Amino acid sequence: MEHIVILGNGISGVTLARHIRKLSDKKITIISAETEFFFSRTALMYVYMGHMKFEHIQPYEKNFWTKNRIELKKGYVSTIKPENKTLIFSDGESFTYDKLILAVGSKPNKFGWPGQDLIGVQGLYSKQDLDTLEINAPNNKVCKRAVIVGGGLIGIELAEMLRSRNIPVTFLVRESSFWNGVLPKGESEMLNRHIKSHHIDLRLSTNLREIKSDDKGQVQSVILEETGEEIFCNVVGLTPGVSPNIDFLKDSGIELSRGIKVNRFLETNIPDIYAIGDCAEQREAIGNRRSIEAVWYTGRMMGETLAQTICGNKIAYQPGHWFNSAKFLDIEYQTYGWVFATPKENNQHFHWKHEDDTKCITIEYHKSTNIFIGVNTFGIRMRHEVFDKWLTEKRDMDYVMNHLEDANFEPEFFKTYEKEIISAYNKQLQTVSQ
Ligand SMILES: Cc1cc2nc3c(=O)[nH]c(=O)nc-3n(C[C@H](O)[C@H](O)[C@H](O)COP(=O)(O)OP(=O)(O)OC[C@H]3O[C@@H](n4cnc5c(N)ncnc54)[C@H](O)[C@@H]3O)c2cc1C
Repeated sequence: MEHIVILGNGISGVTLARHIRKLSDKKITIISAETEFFFSRTALMYVYMGHMKFEHIQPYEKNFWTKNRIELKKGYVSTIKPENKTLIFSDGESFTYDKLILAVGSKPNKFGWPGQDLIGVQGLYSKQDLDTLEINAPNNKVCKRAVIVGGGLIGIELAEMLRSRNIPVTFLVRESSFWNGVLPKGESEMLNRHIKSHHIDLRLSTNLREIKSDDKGQVQSVILEETGEEIFCNVVGLTPGVSPNIDFLKDSGIELSRGIKVNRFLETNIPDIYAIGDCAEQREAIGNRRSIEAVWYTGRMMGETLAQTICGNKIAYQPGHWFNSAKFLDIEYQTYGWVFATPKENNQHFHWKHEDDTKCITIEYHKSTNIFIGVNTFGIRMRHEVFDKWLTEKRDMDYVMNHLEDANFEPEFFKTYEKEIISAYNKQLQTVSQ
């Protein structure tokens, strides 16, 4: 019987295994060094915040794996030898496969800062990071202040987590406004104010120079690059993004760039080796999607797609229109299609913000055809299927504005603000045409 070995038990690897089992009788083994069972990485924060126990973020019961004949193996694979289809574990054990799927995820970035390996310096990615945070920052007596370095989605999650235990947080963000490489100015500036209103000491345009240690090798303070200011702290959270976890593959013969190079069928350059999830890098662009997309649902989609191919129905990965969602403290964010920080050439933005400074919408559209390109919403829940359809149908702005209510999850909200939004849009049209 063909033996399918999946390296990585995150969303992509586990989705693949579940779907192969639905479609076939193949022998399946999932290997991971991190945890025995799959857990929802996106929910790690809720464990620290006390909303859930770790068991609650493991969606499958123990007997699910035996019932579905999916073997689980814990261990770290240090080498892959494609010439004899063998994996070598860090303890020297070897293990063979017929087909190998690399679903090895990401690793937190580190930029060689002095002091980055001190006790009390950590990222937020793995279950081990969660355990370490519990030791480093159990409360505000042990951790009198934390400094977070890197202003993206994981940075703000870590800030929220620490604030939930009343730990003072200083948040160092290299950019002049929070996440302004991704978000348009109005949204990014709204978030600056929102972060500060949660008593987070947000320092924009600020870089880390150095992390200093006490005489026991424990973090004592950080020094800021621009001013030389010293901030005393017990924990430093490094959250300047993630990159594919591929260092252990460098001598394997598998083609690597920033990630593991794959074609549309998720095949690497080596027969019978595939890559999915955060670690996969598309060789050719798929529409206007990024070549690496480190998000939950794309890992799941790749797992579902590859299961078909592995079970004899070879199909290409087709992610469709880009969408994503996240939470910035208590503001929900959704994005459908493309809204760039500054509109692409020939495009422009329509932006509306509610006076309470926690809700806004930005729509990107083509200047001359008025075709809808994408929407960002903050504090307003929208319907994915509606925007997806409008993007496919290439609807224009008049259509979108006239039907915005259909996309809204909360009709009451819309009744209250519809007039305001439409009149802001009409005002912008008049300004543009003058
Ligand atoms: C704190 C946090 C919050 C997030 N929130 C969101 C969110 O709200 N929305 C969203 O879309 N995305 C979010 N993400 C991103 C999302 O979680 C990832 O895109 C997704 O989990 C990646 O899944 P994966 O299957 O590709 O890899 P992973 O989940 O990283 O799984 C890979 C597994 O492989 C194991 N492994 C790697 N190499 C080896 C080896 N050599 N030997 C043995 N085992 C190995 C790793 O230990 C790991 O367990 C978040 C990520 C983090 C860290």
